[in-house]
Amino acid sequence: MEHNNDLGFNSLLIHGGMGVDPMGSATVPIYQTSTFAFENVDEGARCFAGESKGYMYTRIGNPTISALERQIAILEKGFGAVAVSSGMAAVSTIYMSFLKTGDHIVSTDAVYGPSRGIMESYFKKFGVESTYINTGNLDAVRQAIKPNTKMLFIETPTNPTMEISDIKACCEIAHQHGLVVVVDNTFSSPYLQRPIELGADVVFHSMTKFINGHADIVAGIIITKNEELYKIVRPTMVGMGCNMDPHQAYMVLRGVKTLSIRIDRAQSNSMKVAEYLENHPKVEWVKYPGLKSHPQYELAKKQMDGPGAMISFGLKGGLDAGKVLMNNVKLALLAVSLGGIETLIQHPASMTHSKMSKDAREKAGITDGLVRFSVGIEDIKDIINDLNQALAKI
Ligand SMILES: *Cc1c(COP(=O)(O)O)cnc(C)c1O
Repeated sequence: MEHNNDLGFNSLLIHGGMGVDPMGSATVPIYQTSTFAFENVDEGARCFAGESKGYMYTRIGNPTISALERQIAILEKGFGAVAVSSGMAAVSTIYMSFLKTGDHIVSTDAVYGPSRGIMESYFKKFGVESTYINTGNLDAVRQAIKPNTKMLFIETPTNPTMEISDIKACCEIAHQHGLVVVVDNTFSSPYLQRPIELGADVVFHSMTKFINGHADIVAGIIITKNEELYKIVRPTMVGMGCNMDPHQAYMVLRGVKTLSIRIDRAQSNSMKVAEYLENHPKVEWVKYPGLKSHPQYELAKKQMDGPGAMISFGLKGGLDAGKVLMNNVKLALLAVSLGGIETLIQHPASMTHSKMSKDAREKAGITDGLVRFSVGIEDIKDIINDLNQALAKI
């Protein structure tokens, strides 16, 4: 696929995926159609044979969705992208694309809850084995690989523990064993981290989060480093029916244009929030890759172009103190999801990770008192005032 990669990241956000519209439209139009008429029988036959680039049916492909796929592939420095209905549709399409009965996967233990959940329920049912480890520990990665291991699935930074895995080192180990390396890049977005440049084979996003960024759409995308992998993922998505809707694609095309300016503001707010929390007497610990106290501060600096806008912290009063905090914030919304323009607060042990056993949660570092904070782009004084008044109630 032809990409204009000479432009800088901010210019690519505005112009990257745009083709030239025949009507001169400044934005990509919404082709809100399920099907496409062929000029004649021969053209229809060429489309179905894959000899013509024409569109046939929206589950297979659609011009609005294609523009978004081009855009994200360019930003991630990949060969191509396959847009899907949600982040979880990306996870299930990836598992379906590369795993079969008897295979084994090694994965980050603190991955997004449902990424582990569907592996340990549905894929286990089909005879796929899985091992969950701290992929920040390279010896643990080496030891977990078995003769039937096919995939290394990493999420970095992790949700919600903010652990960092060394993508480049993980890829080197995995590739010695012929594994496919998949990276969930949702927390960083391509603005802050580009795993394909570090050796990853497949990258995916919940575009519900930073890429769209406005808390108004659920969407996902899979980016592959080469054509061979693209040709495995694309038909799986089409066959499983995980496609995106054209209107959804239009919304994400609109949201992604401001990715860098949104993250710049949210990230500068995050640094101030993290420093504020670190100095607060009621806070026991703060984990943010931008703080020198983060155990992998140096690795984060090397691998990422910025520490992002997600913070996790623990209160001295544990779960009860966390409840008081969450019931008393006024500006921050008590809600799951992340990466939007609004500040959100949530409690993983009772919300996003409640389906994991307490034992598995603790092993993955998700303690009962952990609070997750997704910093928005509001005025920093208002975010801190809000935390201040709520922390005072504890
Ligand atoms: C939200 C999220 C997902 C799942 O995405 P959906 O769009 O909700 O299906 C996967 N991984 C991470 C890290 C997420 O935050």
